[in-house]
Amino acid sequence: MLFTAQVVTTDEWEAEPSGPFSRTVPRFVVIHHTDNNNPPNDPSRGTIEGAKRLAKNIQIFHKRSRGWSDSGHNFLNTTGGFILEGRHGSLNAVKQGFCVLSAHALQDSLKLAGGNQSPGIENEGNFMTFEMGQAQWNSLVELCASLCESCAISPKNIRGHREFSNTDCPGDWLFKQLPRLRKAVADKLEMHIDLHELENNVAGQTLKVGSTGPEVIKLQKRLSERNFNPGPIDGLFGDGTRSAVILFQRSVGLEEDGIAGPQALRSLDLI
Ligand SMILES: [Zn+2]
Repeated sequence: MLFTAQVVTTDEWEAEPSGPFSRTVPRFVVIHHTDNNNPPNDPSRGTIEGAKRLAKNIQIFHKRSRGWSDSGHNFLNTTGGFILEGRHGSLNAVKQGFCVLSAHALQDSLKLAGGNQSPGIENEGNFMTFEMGQAQWNSLVELCASLCESCAISPKNIRGHREFSNTDCPGDWLFKQLPRLRKAVADKLEMHIDLHELENNVAGQTLKVGSTGPEVIKLQKRLSERNFNPGPIDGLFGDGTRSAVILFQRSVGLEEDGIAGPQALRSLDLI
């Protein structure tokens, strides 16, 4: 499947000109909410005209009030199920497997890195407790599937803004829906992913002796790149991998327990 989501471009909603921006290699899809009113008082009123007006208002807000050079996000998903390009160049970039550097998910201390290098989707509304309507949900699934496919991002890496920055975005309700969103995207792409791996706590995973799978391969490759020899890169966390983790932990001053927990994985740029 290629990028099939229908997106209203910046030209089509008559954005103020800006850019060009540097291209990045995305690792995540980042989910936000706009923190606007919900239906029936939603800014776009569920119409395409309203969606374009909202995109313009957000661009102006981000430029004038936030001091950013353009819309902070890459895509806007409105209550009517309309998807609009945010930062200039975003649509062309993702169709080619890249993203444009944006400003929606700055990394705060002890949070995930790579948010601004990855496509960020603003969902119109406040989803602390309010539940998203079906049209907006369907377009979100469609957009995420297109992004995962064209940029080779695993649905497991559809993440909430709060995982990158100190914020409650995208709201408690929407954050809790992320496992369901990942599942819907994986199903659409006909991928079979262990349901457990779709839960929200994947960033807190721990790899240790006995762990197996692609995450272990990534760990072994990264250790090897950093000259900590784990032995064969085979996806099996054995004594060789444990020794390499200990040497790495020693080199960066982490506790030398041979277990690759969140701190070690983050230090290795794996999460
Ligand atoms: Zn956000």
